[in-house]
This record gives sequence, C-alpha cells and structure tokens, in this order.
Amino acid sequence: MEQIKNFIGGKMIGSQSQRTAFVFNPATGESIRQVALSTAQETQSAIETAHSAFKEWSKFSPLKRARILFKFKALLEENQVRLARLISEEHGKVYSDAVGELTRGLEVVEFACGIPHLQKGEHSANVGTGVDSHSLMQPLGVCVGITPFNFPAMVSMWMFPIALATGNTFVLKPSEKDPSISVELAKLLQQAGLPDGVFNVVQGDKEAVDVLLSDSRVQAVSFVGSTPIAEYVYTTASAHGKRCQALGGAKNHSVLMPDADMDMAVNAITGAAFGAAGERCMALSVVLAVGDETADRLIEKLRQQIDNITVGVGVREGRENDMGPVISEQHKAKICDYIDSGVAQGAKLLVDGRGYQVAGYEHGYFVGPTLFDHVTPEMKIYQEEIFGPVLSIVRVPDYHTALQLINHHQYGNGAAIFTRDGETARQFSENVQAGMVGINIPIPVPMAFHSFGGWKRSIFGPLNTHGSDGVRFYTRMKTVTSRWPASVRLEHHDSSFNMPTLE
Ligand code: NAD
Repeated sequence: MEQIKNFIGGKMIGSQSQRTAFVFNPATGESIRQVALSTAQETQSAIETAHSAFKEWSKFSPLKRARILFKFKALLEENQVRLARLISEEHGKVYSDAVGELTRGLEVVEFACGIPHLQKGEHSANVGTGVDSHSLMQPLGVCVGITPFNFPAMVSMWMFPIALATGNTFVLKPSEKDPSISVELAKLLQQAGLPDGVFNVVQGDKEAVDVLLSDSRVQAVSFVGSTPIAEYVYTTASAHGKRCQALGGAKNHSVLMPDADMDMAVNAITGAAFGAAGERCMALSVVLAVGDETADRLIEKLRQQIDNITVGVGVREGRENDMGPVISEQHKAKICDYIDSGVAQGAKLLVDGRGYQVAGYEHGYFVGPTLFDHVTPEMKIYQEEIFGPVLSIVRVPDYHTALQLINHHQYGNGAAIFTRDGETARQFSENVQAGMVGINIPIPVPMAFHSFGGWKRSIFGPLNTHGSDGVRFYTRMKTVTSRWPASVRLEHHDSSFNMPTLE
C-alpha cells in the first residue's frame, strides 16, 4: 500500500516510525493509503532543516519571494483538477466543493503576492530635529502550521503563503486523516522555485505536535482544529515562549426574523447547514426562528429543500451530488450519538439522517441531512459542536432573546441574521459576540485580504489568520530612529540626560 511520506529539505523521505495510520476513502470505507506518524527525531530534523534555510531565505528581497508565489499560484491553477480529486478522495467532499476550497486557498496566495507592499513598514520624517523613524517588519524564523482534516488544502494556505512571503521558513503538520494534498502543495512550491528546506511537511499526530510546540528553534505556531486541542496548543506553545494563534470549534447561529426573504433565507440555510456534510467550522448549525409562525414557514420550505439534497460519492461522472460522506466511521458514530441524545432530551426529530444508505456505497460513512425542531438551550445538541449535517431549530419569542442566546454560547465563530430591516441588522452586527457576521449571508467567511477568526472559545491568541493580522502574526516590528552626523557642522555637543522629546 502506498505510504505518504514526509517532505523535508526538498525530498520525499520515508519514515522510520513503527507507528502508521490508514487513510480511508470515506465514500467506500476502504483504506487507500498509509501515513507515517513521524517520530520526535524526524520532526526535529524537519525543524533543523527549516532553521538552516531561514538564514538565506529571510534575506531574499520580498519581490523575489513574491515572484515564486506568483508561479505557485499558476501551478495551483494548472493542477486544480488533480488536486481537487485528491481532496475529494481522502476527505469525501464533492468535487466542486474541493475546487471551492482550493480557490479560497489560492486567494491567500494572491494576497501574499502583494508582500512588497504589505511588508513596507512605516516611516516618519523629522520626529525630532534631523531625526527620522522607520519600522522594519522582520520575519520570525521557523513557523509551524498544524491543520485539521476538514480543509486539507485551504487551511494550510491560510498560513504558509504569508509566512513564506514575509521571509519565514515553515513546517506543516497536516491532519493524518487526509494528508496527501500537503505533499502535493510542497512539490508545487518546489517547482515554483522555492529553495529546498524553506517549506517542509512532517506527517504525524500528537508525538510530532508536541515536539513542534516545545522545540526552541520554532518561533511561531498556527493551529486550526477542535477547541480542546486549540487550547492545549495555545497554552503549551505560549509556555514555551512562542507566538501562537489557535483557532478552535464553533456553533454558528443564524437569526431568522419574521420579515426575512424566506426563499432566500431557506436556500442560504440549506447550503450552509448541509454543505460539506456540515464539516465546516463556519457551517450553520442553529437557526433561531423568531416567532412560531416564522418557524413553521421555515420548516415547511426546509423540508422540501432537504428532500432535494442528493447525497453520495464526491467524485463521479455526470451530475454531482450536493453532499458527500463524513470523514470516518468513528465520526459517523459520534454524529449519530448526538442525534440519539437530541431525541432522548426531547427535541423533535423532523428529518433523520441516521442509517442513510447510498446504493453501491454501503460501506461509506454517510449521514443524511438531519433536522430538529424545538431544540432548547440546555440540550447537548445545542451546546456542543456536532460537526455533521444536523440542523437545530430553536424557537424564540423575539430578537433580544435570540441575541442573548448567541452571546451566552461558549463559541463565537460566525453568526448571521436574515432580515429586511436595516436597523435590526445594524444593531445585530454591533452587538453580537462573534468574530464573523453575516447580514443575509449564511457563511460570512472573510476574503483573503481581511482576517479570519472568531471570538470566545473559537480562538486562542490575539491575532486572526490571513489579511493584515496574518502579516502581523508572521513578522515582528523593529523601529529604527536615526540621526545623521550633523555634528561636524554643530558647534556644541552637549549630552542630554532627559527623556528625548520633540524639540
Ligand atoms: P482536531 O483538533 O482533532 O485535529 C487538528 C490537528 O491537531 C490535527 O493535525 C491533529 O493531528 C492534531 N491533534 C489531534 N489531537 C491532538 C492532541 N491530542 N495533541 C496534539 N495534536 C493533536 O480537529 P479535526 O477533527 O481535524 O478538525 C475539526 C475541528 O476543527 C472542528 O472542531 C472544527 O470546528 C475545527 N476547525 C476550525 C476552524 C476555524 O477556523 N476556527 C477551521 C476549520 C476547522
């Protein structure tokens, strides 16, 4: 069986580890590849390689670094079909969704191509008589990315294009569930002209992660994954003196106001709840329907939409399905346990996705779209992230109750409102406690030139990913204040022992 290797110093390197994991095709349930779970020594060798490459790479002019990224972008476009098929095969998402993921990643590469402008720093002339100040935005050194299974290409591309563009070197530790794409991206970077050792991939699990979090040569850690691991990564990396951004899980709510355009809202909610089988950190998993009449109208239309959702294999000839399988047998079981608990706690199960069968793919990890009504805040299906195609409707009497529920939830990644009323929408965007807000937009994922990140337990660390926060995260500021020797022309050379102030 093919073994997915590490990519260190520009070479594919097989692991000596005794520990391996199977990579499955979630649509068929077959194991298709094996991935090494790298040893501590192998992880250290990736760090050492990146550490050695930093000296030269950090001195490349930003323009030269940008030119390599321009080539990388062109190669991503040329290879799009092959890459999207690979993502779909290991993750299970449908082909067009895999193309969408690649596109969102590519947009960060495009943003990073502007690095000569983004990394200019600031300049102030005459901060004192004959004194000028300018800032340098310098790279940090070895940066690390630890990524989740659900966007195997896009999430790493939130990180490394900006890290590399700003002059850092990088070690990527992808999810062991769909690791192949990371090596393909490494090969394309090499083909684009990136010097060997600047970008490395180490396959593995907690053993590799723990080395990355504690090695003194690593300067910064970017993490995306579930909240318990995000918190662990943040506290451990911080305790070792590293800069860290750790993005965690979510429970994204939308408020459906009685005046909303119901057809538009139902279309938006259906795609956002069930797209990628609900395995998106920006998936919409709760609708707060304001008033019983609004809830009843929503359910009537939602049922029709759900009836039309096609579930099946991600890549096939002819018409595409809307939804693929979930990532693993264990994850399928976990989602079904949540559905059981919703029923046990008294929610009304309107559409049941348990036991969903796709003809010809009986061993695939399929869960059908699932809809609950009369969900209440003390239920487990309301409080926890399910990360599957399960949508909960909570009936609320008014807008303020809806807002309060969102603001009291432990997560605060995204939140949306559907309304025709500008004042309500404005009030919502000002007062809702979430990092990304949609007004009649169900998945308000910011573009690459803005920054992505939630609030509350959806993020640990002060800086979001990509956009201007991304540039700030991967650079440190140095401010230079300079005076050139006018002393030859001056008659007096008195020392001043006071705090320098503008003269
Ligand atoms: P996960 O937390 O299980 O794994 C993420 C990464 O951490 C993987 O590389 C994994 O190998 C590593 N890891 C797992 N257990 C570890 C441990 N005990 N110690 C050290 N490292 C460990 O997450 P997942 O299941 O791959 O991804 C789904 C989660 O990611 C969901 O909770 C989802 O909301 C979240 N997510 C969040 C965002 C965001 O932007 N906030 C984006 C995508 C996904």
